[in-house]
Amino acid sequence: MNFDEYFDFDKDNRSCMNVFASKLVENAVNELSRLPGIGKKTALRLALHLLKKDLHIAEALGNSIIKMRTDIVFCTMCHNISDGEICEICGNPKRDKNTICVVEDVRDVMAIENTGQYNGLYHILGGIISPIDGIGPNDLNIDSLVHRVQQEAAGEVILALSTTIEGDTTNFYLYRRLKDLDVAITTIARGVSVGDELEYADEVTLGRSLLNRLPYEGTHD
Ligand SMILES: [Zn+2]
Repeated sequence: MNFDEYFDFDKDNRSCMNVFASKLVENAVNELSRLPGIGKKTALRLALHLLKKDLHIAEALGNSIIKMRTDIVFCTMCHNISDGEICEICGNPKRDKNTICVVEDVRDVMAIENTGQYNGLYHILGGIISPIDGIGPNDLNIDSLVHRVQQEAAGEVILALSTTIEGDTTNFYLYRRLKDLDVAITTIARGVSVGDELEYADEVTLGRSLLNRLPYEGTHD
């Protein structure tokens, strides 16, 4: 009998928990299954895997998660996740300090970095304006963006938010906050065709959108 047959969870995920002879394993499975995308069956597989391997593997996993969770901070300039007061991007002398790309969250930074097409700085809003979710401008890192543009005399702010209504609303709000400052406001190009290279759409499209950015003024009518 193999693993899957022995632990046949397909009918009722919860009933499988009765098979545990160990409360310790059950606790580990319950904690692992709280993670997104991890069901009870996968959680049990992971727990038993860790049980089989050397103790130092479980220790390294546990310690790295605890250390990440307790030691990580947010960059005081751009609000990116960081190991220190200033993140590696803001602290890199080779980055173009004249350009600030405004994004919703840290995953957008990773996606844009992945394109290899951008060498400026970022500003992470921590979300977008969404009245239905109760998120207003004051809940986002917008004042610090305005402050940065004033203090650092940035030449260009790129609005790289999602194409949803909330994204457009946020773009327009940011535009109104920034338009009287001495800074060019641009937005990433939309709907760039990648022709036959569709399988590479994410990186290629995003990279081209960044390169083909447009002045924001006039795009929001
Ligand atoms: Zn930073």
